[in-house]
Amino acid sequence: MVDFSNQFSRRKFLLTAGASAVGSVFLKGCLGNPPDTATTSQTQQVVATNLGAADKPEITKVKLGYIPIVEAAPLIIAKEKGFFAKYGMTEVDISKQANWGSARDNVEIGSAGGGIDGGQWQMPMPYLISEGYITKGNQKIPMYVLAQLNTQGNGIAIASKHKGKGMGLQIASKGTLFAQAKSAGNEFKAANTFPHANQEFWIRYWLAANGVDPDNEIQLLTVPASQTVANMKTGTMDAFSTGDPWPYRIVKDKIGFMSALTAEIWKNHPEEYLAMRADWVDKHPKATKALLKGLMEAQQWCDNFDNRKELSQILSGRNYFNVPAEVLLEPYMGKYDMGDGRTIDDRKMACLYWKDEKGNVSYPYKSHDLWFLTESVRWGFLPESTLANANKLIDKVNREDLWREAAKEMGIPAADIPTSTSRGVEEFFDGIKFDPTNPKAYLQSLKIKKVKV
Ligand code: CA
Repeated sequence: MVDFSNQFSRRKFLLTAGASAVGSVFLKGCLGNPPDTATTSQTQQVVATNLGAADKPEITKVKLGYIPIVEAAPLIIAKEKGFFAKYGMTEVDISKQANWGSARDNVEIGSAGGGIDGGQWQMPMPYLISEGYITKGNQKIPMYVLAQLNTQGNGIAIASKHKGKGMGLQIASKGTLFAQAKSAGNEFKAANTFPHANQEFWIRYWLAANGVDPDNEIQLLTVPASQTVANMKTGTMDAFSTGDPWPYRIVKDKIGFMSALTAEIWKNHPEEYLAMRADWVDKHPKATKALLKGLMEAQQWCDNFDNRKELSQILSGRNYFNVPAEVLLEPYMGKYDMGDGRTIDDRKMACLYWKDEKGNVSYPYKSHDLWFLTESVRWGFLPESTLANANKLIDKVNREDLWREAAKEMGIPAADIPTSTSRGVEEFFDGIKFDPTNPKAYLQSLKIKKVKV
C-alpha cells in the first residue's frame, strides 16, 4: 500500500476528530439522545417466539449505529415497526452516532467495548476499516457489507450569496467563479461529512464534471452533517453535500439553495450501506440473516409512498432526527424546492429504499463497491494498485450471498432478487460511463483526476 499512510495520515483524522467533539455537543443539545432501546411490543414478542428452531437467531441483541439522515430510515423503521423483532432480533439497539468519525471509533471497539457491532456506512468506509486505513494504529478490522440502505436522497447545497451565478447541475460561470473567489482571498469552501467517502465523491464528481478541479480550484473540508446548517449560516462554507433533510433545510431556512440532487448526478446511484463487523456476523449467521430480513421488510415499508407521512413523523421525533416533519416529507414525496426558482416533483427522484428503475435497491452490488474503490483511486485516496486486487477485496468484504439467502428464506420473489453481482454499465449526467469490467477505461475517460492512467 505505497504512499497510503501519507495520504491518509493520522493527522488528517485528528483534525476531523476535533470537529467531532463539537458535533457531539451539538447532537446532545439539539438532536436529542439515542432512543430508548427496550421497547418491544407484546405482539412482536409473540411472533418472535413462533420462529422455527432452524431460523432462531444465536443472539437477540445487537447494537447498530446510525447518523440522523434519511439513509438511516430502514434501520429505525425495522426497530419501530417491529420488523427486527418479527425475525427474533428483539433487542436491537439503534444508536445515534455524533458523526462518521465516532461511528468508525465505535465499530473499532465493538459493542463488547461499549461501541457498536455495525450499522449505517458511507462507502467505502467498511473497506477502509477492513483494510486498517482509517483505524487506530492501522489495525485491520474486517467488516462485511450486507445490504444497501437506500439510493438517492442526497444533494448539494450552496450558500445564498452564490444565487444567480448559474450554479445548477451545470455550472455556467465555472471559468471565472472559483478563480475570482480564490484570488480575492475568499476561496470557495465545499464541505462533506467524512473525508474520502461518498459524500465527498458526489461533490467532487459534480465539480470535476463541470471542469472544476476540486484539488486546486476550491477548498474541501469535513463538517458533521448536523452542523452543516450552522456553518452555512455563519458563512464558513459555500457548499456541502449530505443526506436529506439537511440540504433541504437550508432552503427552508432561506440560507441557501440546492444546485443538484445526487439523483440528477447519477440516477439510482449507490448511496449508504448496512455493514457489520465480520467477527459478529461469522459468530451469528442466523442473527445476521434475521437482521437482513427485518431490514428488507422495513425497506419495503419505507418505499410505500402511503407510509411516507408516518415515516417522516417517526424520523422527525426528538429521539431520532428532531427536525420538523415537513422538511422530511416534501423530499420524501419527490417534491424539492431547489431554492433558486427550480422545483422538482417526481417520486422517481426521491430517496428510495427497495426498488428503483434499475431493480432492487437493497441488494449490495459488487459493481458499485468497485466504483467506490475506483473513485478512491481517481482522487489519489487509494493507490492505483488497489484496482488490480479490487475484485479479491470486494469478494472478501461484500457478502451479497447472505443477502440472497435471507431474501430467499423470507420469500422475496425471484424476480426481485438480482441474478448478477454487477448492475452493469453505469452512466453519469455528463455522459461518462463506468463499465465495471474495465474500471481503467473509466479513469482514462475522466479529464480531471489525480491518478495518472
Ligand atoms: Ca449520504
